[in-house]
Amino acid sequence: MALHLFNSLTRRIEEFVPIDPARVGPDGRPYVGLYCCGPTVYDYGHIGNFRTFVFADVVRRHLGFRGYSVRTVMNITDVEDKIIRRVRETGRPLREFTRVFEDAFLEDLKTLNCHPGETPRATEHIGEIIALIQKLEQRGLAYATADGSVWFSIDKYQGCGCRYGVLKSIDFTQMRPGERVAADEYEKEAAADFALWKARVPEDGDVSWDSPWGPGRPGWHIECSAMSMALLGPSFDLHLGGEDLAFPHHEDEIAQSEGAALQKDGRPFVKYWLHGAHLLVEGKKMSKTLGNFFTLRDLRSKGFSGREVRQLLLSAHYRETFNFTLEGLAGARSALTRIDECVDKLTQLAGNQSGGADAALVGAFTEAMDNDLNVARAWGIVFDWVRETNRQLAAGSLSPAQAASALAAWHQVDSVLGLGPRPVAEIPPSLLALAQERVSAKRARDFARADQIREQVKAAGWIIDDTPSGPRLKPIAP
Ligand code: AMP
Ligand code: ZN
Repeated sequence: MALHLFNSLTRRIEEFVPIDPARVGPDGRPYVGLYCCGPTVYDYGHIGNFRTFVFADVVRRHLGFRGYSVRTVMNITDVEDKIIRRVRETGRPLREFTRVFEDAFLEDLKTLNCHPGETPRATEHIGEIIALIQKLEQRGLAYATADGSVWFSIDKYQGCGCRYGVLKSIDFTQMRPGERVAADEYEKEAAADFALWKARVPEDGDVSWDSPWGPGRPGWHIECSAMSMALLGPSFDLHLGGEDLAFPHHEDEIAQSEGAALQKDGRPFVKYWLHGAHLLVEGKKMSKTLGNFFTLRDLRSKGFSGREVRQLLLSAHYRETFNFTLEGLAGARSALTRIDECVDKLTQLAGNQSGGADAALVGAFTEAMDNDLNVARAWGIVFDWVRETNRQLAAGSLSPAQAASALAAWHQVDSVLGLGPRPVAEIPPSLLALAQERVSAKRARDFARADQIREQVKAAGWIIDDTPSGPRLKPIAP
């Protein structure tokens, strides 16, 4: 079966065929361009944001696994209404303010083993943004108002035979042509002209750029149209984001990008639109006042690893709302331990043997993921495999060569899941010293002291494993 994905544009699961099937990437494999709306860097990312970014990372990994050469772009929105408000409140320069959260975001992605690809900043693409707005003006789809703002005319866009409301149906009976909305985020289903360029107002402080319409700053929607087309061209394969972005952000992106008519041969701006469902926490929308708001850093400070958070965020299908709980995170920890222990035993048994990947696991996993990234099914396959492998290991019925093939298969599966190997915990030097002291105690036949040390080390979360080559310290499995 070929890869199939749910396309929000057609509201159907469709076979994935690149928009330009003849094009190849630098490695000679079929080329795919993928854009994911990145963060607005005004605060630390919360785990809802990261659900969307982990989803995007799995799409990228699965495409790579299925043989595509994927060019990935994730923008950094570093100028927008919320940012300006915070810059004003903190009195810090824009760049200094956003850089803190941008750096934190990239570090958090690393913690989660996500690779964002190229990460263009909106403030470094003002030239392209202005050029795109000018193009829309030339085509009669954008108009400036006396204050020096520029707006996208939905009425004119529709007059050109284009459809506004392809991702979401819009109630045009309420539409009054020329009615405008200035905010970057606005009411659902509002059919109102939206801002492409916002004239500078005193509250903007230093945050403004010169433009043909006077000083101002770009609207949020045009930033993504300009950056995605600048890096991936006017037509590309996949555009991702959380479901809340479908309207107005993505609808506006389509209108601006297709309104500029840079696409060739009747191609669309984007062939496949994928939207990740939201994350709820303890059944509710995350909010600071409800006290159910978690950043990745909050979870790290509670002792959870990025790997555990990734596993949990990936445990449900991306189009289903997922309810996050701390118990769920504890469950992710034990799920990972089960996998890690099985992989450890396979590694020991395989020794230095190598082998081709076991086709059964890889085949079943691929089929599940090809079906619109059916991770629930994929995890079921992984845990059935762990159970069966453990049974065979216990029965002594696996040869080293078979263990090597099983491991090779697991590594292929994990190239998509992106869990990576169990992190090697660093052994505190004080415990290493105690382990050495225990060796001396045993030599001196002071077994009481040796036992005491074992208990002391255990209380610190480690087990002493006596091997022929000396003691080895292993962290106690959580
Ligand atoms: P923002 O930084 O607010 O622009 O959001 C970055 C990404 O996170 C966007 O793709 C949003 O759709 C997504 N997002 C925001 N809240 C949630 C949530 N609770 N669950 C999943 N994704 C979310
Ligand atoms: Zn965007």
